[in-house]
Amino acid sequence: MKFKTKDISHFKDYIRENKTVTIITHYNPDGDAIGSSTALFRYFKLIMKDVCIVVPNYIPHSIEFLLENTDYIIAEADFKKAKKRLQETDLLIIADMNDNSRCGDNLEKILNELNCKKVLIDHHVLPFGYDINFSYPEASSTCEVVWNVLYRLSGKKVFPPDISTSLYAGIMTDTGSLSFSCNDPGLYIVISNLLKSGIKANKINQKIFDTYSKNRLSLLGYAISRKLRVFDKQRAAFIAISLSELEKFNYQPGDLEGVVNYCLKLEGVDFCALISERDKKIRMSFRSKDESIDVNKFARKYWNGGGHVMAAGGKSFMSLSEVVKCFTEQIYNMDFIVKD
Ligand code: 5GP
Ligand code: MN
Repeated sequence: MKFKTKDISHFKDYIRENKTVTIITHYNPDGDAIGSSTALFRYFKLIMKDVCIVVPNYIPHSIEFLLENTDYIIAEADFKKAKKRLQETDLLIIADMNDNSRCGDNLEKILNELNCKKVLIDHHVLPFGYDINFSYPEASSTCEVVWNVLYRLSGKKVFPPDISTSLYAGIMTDTGSLSFSCNDPGLYIVISNLLKSGIKANKINQKIFDTYSKNRLSLLGYAISRKLRVFDKQRAAFIAISLSELEKFNYQPGDLEGVVNYCLKLEGVDFCALISERDKKIRMSFRSKDESIDVNKFARKYWNGGGHVMAAGGKSFMSLSEVVKCFTEQIYNMDFIVKD
């Protein structure tokens, strides 16, 4: 991962000159969001900064353990406190998101008005301009970028086990346990250095991936056996699921994490989606098996979203049935192959 020398030296200046550091990450945080934020928290704590994480909303149970012994504010639970913290911060680190809009409307407004120094550490395409942009869309995860940034800041390759645990967790969640975004040899050097701190990879994997409730596992079974629609000719598939169906399985945030990937397990399917009804909107997740189907472009063009070439998300404020109708037409028209 190539870094501009001036970016690292400016970041060092910002860290030296500023005492209060706040880390913010995206709405509906995943393992990479919480992994990168907590690793950065721990690093700043080690160098004696006044540091805090602002998380926009609910943290899924399977990654909650990463937040042990950190200071964090969930903005949806205590917006006033999150706002105050952000307004008082000297240095803001934006982790695992490329744009202020990714942390929700209320926080976006506050971020847009902040005058402090802002440093982005991320791997999504098209980053919004911050004071420093450590933006590496080719990286597997933000956690991989964080390791590289910390290595250049500190000169060290092996960090304390709690930092390594956070970074390892983010890499594993964002690569589906090294099954995608996993072709770069540099990634395995990072993982090797994380393991050198003595962390137990198998135990972390169990904590993240083997913590399903019975309801969550049943919801997965229901989604695949009852809700999967496959379009053989178009090599596409999707699952659409309503709020009332989710409620039958006592849906908890994070319970649909990873469900979209099951559609791609079908031989002959190159593009897929998970469409799920939430309180006030429809959430969309898109995946593809090949760079020639750029779901980031598709999500940006049609579904108010974005992400990566082979994994992206979006949203709609139409009804579930309207979204399904429109999306089905897009499949028949092969609109998911977006021409420039
Ligand atoms: P997921 O489908 O797992 O929620 O998200 C897949 C990828 O797309 C993630 O990298 C995520 O950050 C990105 N993504 C998900 N939803 C949105 C969205 O609404 N807007 C943008 N720009 N990116 C999104
Ligand atoms: Mn990520």
